[in-house]
Amino acid sequence: MRMDDQHQAGFATRAVHAGEHLPPADFVPIATPIHVGASYIYQDLERLYGVTTGEQEGYVYTRYGNPTVGAMEAAVAEMEGTATAFGTASGMAAVHTALLGAGLQAGDRVVASRDIYGSAYTLLNGLLRRFGVETTFVDVTDLAAVREAIRVKRPRLVHCEVISNPLLRLADIPVIVEEARHVGAVVTVDSTFATPYLATPATWGVDMVIHSSTKYLGGHGDVVAGVIACDEATRAALWDVAIQTGGILSAFDGWLVLRGIKTLALRMSRQCSNAMAIAESLRGHPKLRRVHYPGLAEHPQHDLAATLLRPGTFGAMLAFELQDDSQAGAMRFLSALRRVLPTQSLGDVYSSALIPALSSHHMLSPEERATIGVSDGLIRFSAGIEDPDDLVRDVLQALDRC
Ligand code: PLP
Repeated sequence: MRMDDQHQAGFATRAVHAGEHLPPADFVPIATPIHVGASYIYQDLERLYGVTTGEQEGYVYTRYGNPTVGAMEAAVAEMEGTATAFGTASGMAAVHTALLGAGLQAGDRVVASRDIYGSAYTLLNGLLRRFGVETTFVDVTDLAAVREAIRVKRPRLVHCEVISNPLLRLADIPVIVEEARHVGAVVTVDSTFATPYLATPATWGVDMVIHSSTKYLGGHGDVVAGVIACDEATRAALWDVAIQTGGILSAFDGWLVLRGIKTLALRMSRQCSNAMAIAESLRGHPKLRRVHYPGLAEHPQHDLAATLLRPGTFGAMLAFELQDDSQAGAMRFLSALRRVLPTQSLGDVYSSALIPALSSHHMLSPEERATIGVSDGLIRFSAGIEDPDDLVRDVLQALDRC
């Protein structure tokens, strides 16, 4: 309906159209608006259909693209140093879209780190295996084994995490990329634990940098989202998968991530120093068998972490194994915590802890967990931005009481 028709229109028609589609204003909002429109129209139909058919750049339908999500993608690309990025409905949608966008098909092989987020492991080892994609899992800290797997299997794709969930193992990604190049494999890396504040894997030659934005990029425990940083050609392949499978990001969630990114540096800096303070306070604790934190000199990959990550920062996640290596013991520890929350996520402003054997890795068999090193008494800890003394006190009192 044209604006000048409004006076002839009935009440219901006017109620639907009034106030909408006003001429563009000459001001620009300081914060990117949340563009909730599912569809977009243009002054002329040629342009509308030019965008619809992909001949012109623009927005026509939110599953095909949304300006708020586009702003978040531009911010992630800027942080990661890539040409572009692609937002998805969750971190797992990002992993899935990346794997399909790389062109995986029946008969293809993948070499993946064994120590990765549980659902990524089961996606590769379950769902994709059912569709004829065979994954060989390797200990990513054993470079000779990684090299051999890549040379023998000649995979289409190599997948790992910069800092692994839950055991905080590091992958020497520049070396892995070089090896993957010899066989023409695509390299996808989940950088959720590192964030672009600590590392920018595209500068090591990684093709797709994946994030669960639910974690540090969002950072406040109020959004589920994912993103893949990549080049333009890769984005086109991801887009093609996503518009068919539909796991796109909503405008509101894209906006929350965009807002979260603005404070990423401040949060990560504090969270990393808090993690270090907690790890140091746990060193040699009689109730613990082992503390996993790349910032501790005794961590087997401390030197690699110092080379790969932002100087002086080692991430905001740590893990520790209780002497009482039972799920009941781990439950007792979690229930004794007073400030740290027992949430099933990580990377938020508040500190949280969980039992991987019962949550992030519960879908793996006990044997698979044992191979990776996920014991029943393992606690994964996400340091928030609280005062470090409060966190240390809380963890120590919980250990005393469990
Ligand atoms: N990647 C890593 C490293 C994760 O820790 C998680 C979730 O914990 C995911 C991916 C999946 O993210 P989401 O829960 O946003 O799907």
